[in-house]
Amino acid sequence: MIPFLDLAAQYAEVGPAIEEAALRVLRSGGYVLGPEVAAFEKEFARAIGTTACIGTSTGTSALWLALKAAGIGSGDEVVTTPSTFVATVAAILQTGATPVLADIDPETWNLDPQKAEDAIGPRTRAILPVHLHGRPADLSAFEDICRRRNLLLVEDAAQAHLAESRGRRCGTVGRAGCFSFYPGKNLGSAGEGGAVTTSDPDLARRVRMLRDWGAERKYHHELAGSNERLHSIQAAILRCKLPRLAAWNRKRADLAVRYNRILSNLPLGLPAPAGDDVHAWHVYAIRTERRDALQAALAAKDIQSGIHYPVPVHLQPAYPGLGGAGSFPESEKLARETLSLPLFPEMTESQQDQVAEAIEEAIHG
Ligand SMILES: *Cc1c(COP(=O)(O)O)cnc(C)c1O
Repeated sequence: MIPFLDLAAQYAEVGPAIEEAALRVLRSGGYVLGPEVAAFEKEFARAIGTTACIGTSTGTSALWLALKAAGIGSGDEVVTTPSTFVATVAAILQTGATPVLADIDPETWNLDPQKAEDAIGPRTRAILPVHLHGRPADLSAFEDICRRRNLLLVEDAAQAHLAESRGRRCGTVGRAGCFSFYPGKNLGSAGEGGAVTTSDPDLARRVRMLRDWGAERKYHHELAGSNERLHSIQAAILRCKLPRLAAWNRKRADLAVRYNRILSNLPLGLPAPAGDDVHAWHVYAIRTERRDALQAALAAKDIQSGIHYPVPVHLQPAYPGLGGAGSFPESEKLARETLSLPLFPEMTESQQDQVAEAIEEAIHG
């Protein structure tokens, strides 16, 4: 069997350090926020290359708290992509604002800056690009649009830990960067976690307050916040993994480049090379019109695969009113064709060769 990802293999590497850290927290008697969270925030901010990091309960809460802290709410519109996990759009709705979608660039599969600009209206307050699969969105273009149109740039960097767009880390270019530490992400907790990164001290202060009931002083509530705190034990676990993140990402990148090489002779759409950018390779996805048949052929050989994502957000029954079928043709085409192959830092070249052979056999018989 070849798994889609292998968190048990990762645990074998960091397990002893994690167990020691978890015991330290359990014995300390402090389980929410506290010194472990503060230390992780400092270390993650340094790793990303910004001044402030605020740990949150999830990546979803990082997104809606960053938007809310920036003053976005009812009556405002936020432009984003339909090719994302629903949390991006749900977070906009949770602030009371209205999501407005724009289609993706067919080469990068990320929000197309020109189409995003075309979607701007009198109520637009922010653009929220997603670094899908860990490939940096065109941050320079979004920065330029936001400067010209006086809009806020917030990054959904939930899949893009340590990715770089033209020499700048994802999560440091917009007013805020929003990260997830869901277990399967490039940097994952043993449960749930997220973070907002920013170099704006006022925004940092507001996110810090909002995640803990809007109070800087206990029981003195200045802002209408919520309970979106990061747990101490998750912060301690993340601190064990953070020093290994860059090496894990390099292994992902090596495997991704190798996939592109060994699959290059097959009639498949392969992810565009990263060029001057640093891609986090959270997901390695190929494209084929015979996606479902290929996925079934891999499953028959005990090779796991995934689809990120099979239904674009505007076609999800839970999120009506964002545009009917045909509204965002590039996103809809990607949803029909995309197939995510196994990719994780511990994957061996022989496992990867087996995946490639199974794909070749499925295509050529
Ligand atoms: C994982 C993810 C989120 C949500 O993060 P959670 O920690 O699961 O709440 C948001 N956006 C994208 C693009 C994601 O991949």
